[in-house]
Amino acid sequence: MARTGLVLWFEEADWRDKKLLGGKGASLAQMTQIGLPVPPGFIITTEACRKFYSSRKAEMDELERQLRGNPPPAVRDEIIKKIWALIDQCDLPAGLMEDVREHMQELERRTGKKFGAADGIPLLVSVRSGAALSMPGMMDTVLNLGLNDNSVQALAKATNNEWFAYDAYRRFIQMFARIVLALDEKPFNDAFDRKSEQFAREAETTYKDELDAIRKLYPEYTPRLDAQPPKDIAPRLWARSLELIKELVGEYKDLVRKMWGEFPQDPYVQLELAIRAVFRSWMNPRAIFYRIANNITPDMADCTAVNVVTMVFGNMGWDSGTGVYFTRDQSTGEDRPYGEFLPNAQGEDVVAGIRTPLGLDELKKRMPEVYNQLIEAGKKLEQVNKDVMDIEFTVERGKLYFLQNRPAKMTPLARVRSAVEMVKEGLLTKEEALLKVDPEQVRRLLYPTIDPKVKATPIAKGLPASPGAASGQVVFNPDDAVEWAKQGKKVILVRVETKPDDVHGFYAAQGVLTSRGGMTSHAAIVARAIGKPAVVGAEAIKIDYDSKTFTVNGVTVKEGDWVTIDGNSGSVYLGELPTVTPELGGWLDELLKWADEERRLGVRANADVPEDAMMARKFGAEGIGLLRIERMFRKPERLEALRRVILAADDKEREAHMKELADMIKPDFKEMLDIMDGKPVVIRLIDPPLHEFLPSSEELLAQIYDLREQREKAQASGDAAKVKELDQKIAELQGLYNRVKALQEANPMMGHRGVRVGVTYPVIYYYLTRAMAEAAAELIKEGKRPVLEIMVPQVSDVNEIRFVKNNAILPALSDVEKEYGVKLNVKIGTMIETVRAALTASEIAKEVDFFSFGTNDLTQATFSFSRDDVENKFMNQYLEKGILANDPFDTVDVKGVGRLVEIATKEGKEANPKLEVGVCGEHGGDPASINFFHGAGVDYVSASPFRVPVARLAAAQAAVKEKLGIRGAVGE
Ligand code: ADP
Ligand code: MG
Ligand code: MG
Repeated sequence: MARTGLVLWFEEADWRDKKLLGGKGASLAQMTQIGLPVPPGFIITTEACRKFYSSRKAEMDELERQLRGNPPPAVRDEIIKKIWALIDQCDLPAGLMEDVREHMQELERRTGKKFGAADGIPLLVSVRSGAALSMPGMMDTVLNLGLNDNSVQALAKATNNEWFAYDAYRRFIQMFARIVLALDEKPFNDAFDRKSEQFAREAETTYKDELDAIRKLYPEYTPRLDAQPPKDIAPRLWARSLELIKELVGEYKDLVRKMWGEFPQDPYVQLELAIRAVFRSWMNPRAIFYRIANNITPDMADCTAVNVVTMVFGNMGWDSGTGVYFTRDQSTGEDRPYGEFLPNAQGEDVVAGIRTPLGLDELKKRMPEVYNQLIEAGKKLEQVNKDVMDIEFTVERGKLYFLQNRPAKMTPLARVRSAVEMVKEGLLTKEEALLKVDPEQVRRLLYPTIDPKVKATPIAKGLPASPGAASGQVVFNPDDAVEWAKQGKKVILVRVETKPDDVHGFYAAQGVLTSRGGMTSHAAIVARAIGKPAVVGAEAIKIDYDSKTFTVNGVTVKEGDWVTIDGNSGSVYLGELPTVTPELGGWLDELLKWADEERRLGVRANADVPEDAMMARKFGAEGIGLLRIERMFRKPERLEALRRVILAADDKEREAHMKELADMIKPDFKEMLDIMDGKPVVIRLIDPPLHEFLPSSEELLAQIYDLREQREKAQASGDAAKVKELDQKIAELQGLYNRVKALQEANPMMGHRGVRVGVTYPVIYYYLTRAMAEAAAELIKEGKRPVLEIMVPQVSDVNEIRFVKNNAILPALSDVEKEYGVKLNVKIGTMIETVRAALTASEIAKEVDFFSFGTNDLTQATFSFSRDDVENKFMNQYLEKGILANDPFDTVDVKGVGRLVEIATKEGKEANPKLEVGVCGEHGGDPASINFFHGAGVDYVSASPFRVPVARLAAAQAAVKEKLGIRGAVGE
């Protein structure tokens, strides 16, 4: 026995080892071992495929790496040619073919069939690809292998059906030519079409009587050369089609001879070539690009197995057929078998969608026995695999065979529903159900989609930057959006691109459409953060702000016209299309309730405005982890007041203006604390560089220039009063200009901002704290339970915290407590967003009640990357060239930033056991990062409201994985 260990029977392979067997092989082994009818066969493992490639692996890896850089088509084709040339030089592992031959001989014994012989029952096999991860349709499979000029006659005798035998032969030659010999298939298709048309013509004329007789019994019958006419009803038609098929077989063999060489008659030569071809199909361009697009790494799937499976025939007549069966409805998740069945057909016909298949209910009517057996097997496979299954089956003369099973691909809704229902059925534990659902899928469930029943053609396509569908009237600037929204209109904000100053327009609009920018453009990030649908970078749209129109492919859309955008697909439509919010029926709620029972991490929301806070509560946030007050300064009178604070000549003046400003924003604090009644609200003291609140120096210069011109004119016309008035204005602006210039910084994000403002102008921090404290005090007096937590940004030294506490925050709190006669219990905390703060956490922890990692800034500081510049200039290349595995602004960088998080959390908690630790950067909503934070001992994460459910589930998954000892995605 020449056993290499690379070839395993379905009976003996350990079906849990998908990496070795590939998913398809594992499923065949599994079904065999649980007693379902599977045609006998064996698996050549992925290990054999790795050995096949091993001598050329380094070169091939390098070529594949070049493909990852997404080269232009011409270069790409060159690279692929090189890869295939290398494959031609690869050898099958030593002894493999001997081993396979022995298995084939054993298969002959087991089935009582003969491989490639003219006598007896012929053994035909399929040679099927299958990697550890399902890559549907990406690799190759050869059916009916073993047919040659001899065995085709044996097959005809054995089945007593010559038509069937020659049809199989015809199919085999064509498939072999295309897949194994890599010949152009067009001449084969052309030859088939010519013959098939000839047959149809003759059927409608010469054999009309027989055709009518068939149609009476089988209305779905159409005369084609690949469907066998029932011999008993239409003997002449049957004989004629057989003749034509035989001619076709001859033509096919001629084609092969011309394009390659004599068609191989030795079945073992066929088999060896087919095995090589299946191995090669792992490096098919489409397979390579599928792996790149889906981020499939070698530790997930490395090479394909080859499954050699005895053929069963769904095309042996009308009591045969082939189909696929989903154990539950893939789109709704409802526990209802769903599937398709094609009578008198072979597998490839369903997959390729050549003919219209029947529903399962029809199968039930025609073959009730088979149907029941199928459903029963489905239940069993669900039980063993604990998942909704997608099953391939074939019926040969009334007998059912299983050919493959795999977990079904489902919509997010179906995922959630089936997971929850499987718990109720006792199929899954709650923990298992929680692991079934991808947290990102949950997010998609919260948004409306365009009603799938509506057929509409988009007028433009952009990037699906923020999910959800929305309709509204077009407006072109953010102030109009606010104005129109006030009048109760629904609007879509359309911009070339957006800036921070446009954000009020986002809130007013139903959705945002831009003609420029990518998935990380400002519009995309903000829209996702606040949960508004957005399509960005729809470049075909030409916007003209002056005429308030945009044009796209000859269509002009004016301000006020209705459009619908679909942030799920990136499509833009004319008019108002109906949208639907997926009907959850409480399944998601239920799943998230279980998530809450499992998770250790708390989940809060980042929310700056009441809409966000209400959304956060609705989605189950346990508090606000970050309230940025900067948005509160957007209203013109407040911005004016803040500017006066910044530009004040002395402390006294500054204090007066600050007091005024504090009174203006107090109601906003009150509203937010009230909405979150009983739950903590972390309010961050002013953070950005002060100049962000001032007009730009260029703008001021332009104004000054303008006034000077007016003054000139006034002087020329002798209007002295006007001159005087203008002089005064000019002087004022000049003063402002000088202040703005003085405040200008070379590197504002690393300049005079955050706590540094609190240190230089304690009065600002004092009054901001007062405003928050007064808001809380008033609520307490009204019988409410506000939970205020105050957070200091940009700290790098404990003395900064000490200073602002002693000179601003504590005095403000005690003043308010005294004045209102209430006890406030305010927690004081700090952001950890500078490297030094993380490294001196043990000192800082003694001065505060909580830390909150601002992982965006911390990532910038740790890498010395400026986020905006990085994303536009080189991040893509870093990812393509494999310098970074992930964008550290999407998923936390475990080695650097993560290490700082771990150090600061550990040392902070040692120094102050009561210290509470949160994360409020965007990473707080990223599942992989959440998994890391769980392990790092963080107490809670804070995410944008729409990410709260995602975070709840991700946090639960982290806890469940820890409990069950499953390794997570990041950092382990
Ligand atoms: P894919 O991975 O593209 O689905 P498969 O290897 O599953 O490729 O095969 C393609 C089609 O051929 C499927 O419909 C399958 O059910 C059918 N098929 C494969 N092997 C056999 C067999 N031994 N007998 C009958 N049909 C088969
Ligand atoms: Mg398949
Ligand atoms: Mg920050």
